[in-house]
Amino acid sequence: MKKIAFIFSLCLMFSFAYAGECNPDKKLRIVIDAGHGGADNGSGAELVTEKEIVMDVSKQLKDLAVNRNIEIILLRESDEYLSLSERVEKIKTLKPDLVISLHANYSNNEEDRGVEVFVNKNDHLMKSTYYATKLLESFAQKDFKVRPVKAAGFFILENIDCPAVMLELGFLSNKEDLSYLNSEFGKKFLAKQIVASLDF
Ligand SMILES: [Zn+2]
Repeated sequence: MKKIAFIFSLCLMFSFAYAGECNPDKKLRIVIDAGHGGADNGSGAELVTEKEIVMDVSKQLKDLAVNRNIEIILLRESDEYLSLSERVEKIKTLKPDLVISLHANYSNNEEDRGVEVFVNKNDHLMKSTYYATKLLESFAQKDFKVRPVKAAGFFILENIDCPAVMLELGFLSNKEDLSYLNSEFGKKFLAKQIVASLDF
């Protein structure tokens, strides 16, 4: 019986290995939707705005994805304003495997902190939740404070037809979160955890 179980698990291993080799060039196509831009600053702290933070992290992601098994496409590449409908239309033409909308949180309660991920309850819920969990695990491993995955009906999540998450990188209203959101090292560290959770 043990022998049969062993042979079965061996077959399973090879079938997984084979599945991986069938399509070695297929990269995971990820669209990064950096929130806000142009006249829309998003949330703000004294010295930094949400639109700048998410733009910086997006650029880091693009750089870090080189020579990896993921393709990163930036929806906005500069400080430009894109309406939510324009974002949805762009995403639809790109047909990505995953969309990550990047934002930073703000709360009237200065104690609120941590990375937070939202998904939409649509046909892609299972895949979206899978990626959301991967992201949070990656952050938690590096001692970022994380909050549970939540469902939400944000416009972009609701109007595109592919797996998608809205990733809030931390609270601008919280001192500890702001210290990493407003530092070059902190933003690069955030980007590294995102890439690590997607290319494994
Ligand atoms: Zn935002």
